[in-house]
Amino acid sequence: ASGYPLLRDPHYNKGLAFTEREKDTHYLRGLLPPVVISQELQVKKMMANIRQYQVPLQRYMAMMDLQERNERLFYKLLIDHVEELLPVVYTPTVGEACQKYGSIFRQPQGLFISLKEKGKILEVLKNWPQKKIQVIVVTDGERILGLGDLGCQGMGIPVGKLSLYTALGGIRPSSCLPVTIDVGTNNEKLLNDEFYIGLRQRRATGQEYAELIDEFMSSVKQTYGEKVLIQFEDFANHNAFDLLANYGSTHLVFNDDIQGTASVVLSGLIAAQKLVGGTLARHTFLFLGAGEAGTGIAELIALEMSKQTGAPVEETRKKIWMVDSKGLITRSRMEGLQHFKRPWAHEHEPVRNLVDAVKAIKPTVLIGSSGAGRTFTKEVVEAMASFNEKPIILALSNPTSQSECTAEEAYMWSEGRAIFASGSPFDPVEYNGKVYASGQANNAYIFPGLGLGLIISGAIRVHDDMLLAASEALAAQVTEENLEKGLIYPPFSIIRKISAKIAADVAAKAYELGLATRLPEPENLVAYAESCMYSPAYRSYR
Ligand code: NAP
Ligand code: MN
Repeated sequence: ASGYPLLRDPHYNKGLAFTEREKDTHYLRGLLPPVVISQELQVKKMMANIRQYQVPLQRYMAMMDLQERNERLFYKLLIDHVEELLPVVYTPTVGEACQKYGSIFRQPQGLFISLKEKGKILEVLKNWPQKKIQVIVVTDGERILGLGDLGCQGMGIPVGKLSLYTALGGIRPSSCLPVTIDVGTNNEKLLNDEFYIGLRQRRATGQEYAELIDEFMSSVKQTYGEKVLIQFEDFANHNAFDLLANYGSTHLVFNDDIQGTASVVLSGLIAAQKLVGGTLARHTFLFLGAGEAGTGIAELIALEMSKQTGAPVEETRKKIWMVDSKGLITRSRMEGLQHFKRPWAHEHEPVRNLVDAVKAIKPTVLIGSSGAGRTFTKEVVEAMASFNEKPIILALSNPTSQSECTAEEAYMWSEGRAIFASGSPFDPVEYNGKVYASGQANNAYIFPGLGLGLIISGAIRVHDDMLLAASEALAAQVTEENLEKGLIYPPFSIIRKISAKIAADVAAKAYELGLATRLPEPENLVAYAESCMYSPAYRSYR
């Protein structure tokens, strides 16, 4: 493009940063004011603009506007100010954006595939302007963050997640495709909202649902080939596990809510071993919440313990216990249990609540993944601290209001002995004259690097060993200095370096397992991963 359309093309537009020469060669003279400024100055100006907005949603919209106007500047901003802008383009603000998506909707940023497109999905994919797609994030909007069913308005999630694939993992924006599958919504409020953008009907289920998904999955493979990564995001757990199981052997699929969470939490536990001494296999785990996050984490822990000790995974699973909304999951409840809970039903008398479960099981690690806030009460934490020198307590539920306990409570009630991390970030806490920093088990540590590793190796399947490799790669980035402060995760500011390391180790695993198709294997995978990463710096046009 050149001239006026160039200024309107977000992929090529540079705003006031076009050089004098570019103004001449690309018919831009007079279309821009005389000044020529650097991308750095543009970043400075945009950050000042964004910080003026007090309302988070306005910051989100300013970022979306920028993405639609000048893509490289958007990514430069996001990369240079990642800690400040992540909560704007992703959780928590993206949640509010999805709730109000109908009102703030301006331009489509991804593909909408509804029941109306049944039988036509191949054509729909052809309508997307980019042809070389490497990562698809797809949702059906049924369980958006902790907000429930937002139907078609879940689109904010694939859009936001893919911007992180680019900013944090260096996947080129043009090879990312956000998709929302709309089979209706059971959200009455949305069904009655005049600005709702989705199908105005209750959710299709059963065969009708399965057929649409299946058409989507085969159309994607037919259009983009076998190496396109399909990330399932924010599906309800009654579909999420089945989708992963059904397509795991035919497609390159990954579910961040299950597998990404598992990998990031396992990484924190591996790093925490340097603080508590010993190995993972020594521990007993208790979860509050046996859904996508909880059972996903549990399974990966069991696998890692099995790798470390050589014991079969059926054995290592016995060290892991779960409490759901009905109490401790035990053999006696087997009958009515959803299939993903069954591996965690062990022999024990019924226990109704968490405190009693903690006292009965005496776990060394307590993990909250229920979405129910304030559930790690004083009594629970004190019990953990009574039989553990250094209790490991992870309060993963989001957003902050749903956290099982606060960082302050964890340190106070354990007399400063807890090793604590959470799903939503907490400020450092002072207790008895000592400052405790706590880590955030943010999935964004893992999925961008994992995705990059799959892409650079040309992997055709995701294997659990790749998740373990990612966990270990992340844990290896935690320094003594981090640990001294109580941090079991490295600082987020070095995320692109972390992503390159994760990518290299995931790719190495893909080669080792014979799942890589990009041959020959690059000699230095870290250097190769880094060289593949997208840079948002402007290119010069001749
Ligand atoms: P999910 O699949 O819906 O599972 C929720 C589980 O919690 C279910 O087993 C449910 O029990 C149980 N539960 C709900 N309320 C409970 C209560 N009051 N007492 C005991 N158990 C209760 O949800 P999910 O996808 O696993 O997500 C759960 C939470 O984890 C969310 O808050 C999410 O934000 C958080 N999360 C954090 C991270 C992270 O930190 N990186 C990543 C992913 C998810 P029933 O099965 O009996 O209904
Ligand atoms: Mn999610």
